Amino acid sequence: MSAFEYRTARSLAETLDQLARPGHVPVGGGTDLLVTIDEGLASPDVVLDIRAVPEANGISELADGGVRIGAATRLADVASHVLIRERYPALAQACEQVGTPAIREMATLGGNLMQRPRCWYFRRGIPCHKNGGSSCPAHDGENQYLAVLDGGPCWMVHPSDPAVALVALDAIVEVHGRGGARSIPIATFFVTPRERMDGETVLQQDELIVAIQLGAAAAGGMQQYTKLMQRGAWDFALVSLAAARRVDGEVRLVLGGVAPRPYRVYTSVEEEAMSGGLDEDAIVGLAERALLDAEPLSKNGYKVTLAASLLRDAIRKLAAE
Ligand SMILES: Cc1cc2nc3c(=O)[nH]c(=O)nc-3n(C[C@H](O)[C@H](O)[C@H](O)COP(=O)(O)OP(=O)(O)OC[C@H]3O[C@@H](n4cnc5c(N)ncnc54)[C@H](O)[C@@H]3O)c2cc1C
Repeated sequence: MSAFEYRTARSLAETLDQLARPGHVPVGGGTDLLVTIDEGLASPDVVLDIRAVPEANGISELADGGVRIGAATRLADVASHVLIRERYPALAQACEQVGTPAIREMATLGGNLMQRPRCWYFRRGIPCHKNGGSSCPAHDGENQYLAVLDGGPCWMVHPSDPAVALVALDAIVEVHGRGGARSIPIATFFVTPRERMDGETVLQQDELIVAIQLGAAAAGGMQQYTKLMQRGAWDFALVSLAAARRVDGEVRLVLGGVAPRPYRVYTSVEEEAMSGGLDEDAIVGLAERALLDAEPLSKNGYKVTLAASLLRDAIRKLAAE
């Protein structure tokens, strides 16, 4: 593990000032950053603990009826908060299915969205596109946990459960940096390896996620986050699905574990799922259409089967509401 200095930031201004310097990175719970340093995937000079920054802390109600979650809020606190459980249950369910209780007590929401991919090759320093190599050894190798949609030239999947729920809830990522603040719709926050290889989001090195905002329009209705794992618990998703029917009737269907970013299905599939009155053939057809672009690798075709099954169950439930 390379040596680094640990500092605690007390204000947002101080944090942004420090992040503007080369080699300075933010840390939340450290449950991924410290591992990536240990694995030689990151070598910061200064690790800046942002958990005492007031703007990045706590869960509060917004004037328009939405909710703001500070990026340094721990996943366990997001999962148990009354506003989240009542208004955004899909997010509460996603947070309470992350890893182990110990991880949820340490990990922050911002850090969870920024965690690096779990692909064995990348993590173990076997040369690959993401760690400085020029090919993807997983493509013809151990690819059972990798992408079936939006893959290539790297087939990583984004490991975050909360990210999938947040896309279904049309969340806004509140980002601050040297150049000012920007509000990024979460659907455009994550990028594929085609767009960027040295990270999985549009965030720049000097920028910080300060909060996640959830709008009033996404509150309530029918929401659920379903996660399929190889082990019964304490595991990353093989495939997951966040499904929501908002109070205004709009439907969101977002898959996790299948692509380099949370994968929202075609709007036309969501619109038909919203129209109701679907018989079983129509439901099966919609799930198939949602996965038309799937291109499984040699060992992960099972993910298409799992995703279709989750979609059918969710569409059936939406149709019955
Ligand atoms: C055994 C195990 C099982 C796991 N299972 C799951 C699972 O099932 N589902 C799941 O979703 N995750 C899972 N994880 C991953 C875990 O959730 C993440 O490690 C954790 O959420 C990261 O949060 P953190 O606050 O510790 O991030 P850190 O380790 O502190 O930071 C991670 C990255 O984010 C950056 N960062 C931190 N905060 C910010 C911010 N506010 N703005 C910008 N950048 C920031 C850091 O610089 C670093 O690059 C698992 C991890 C382990 C070890």
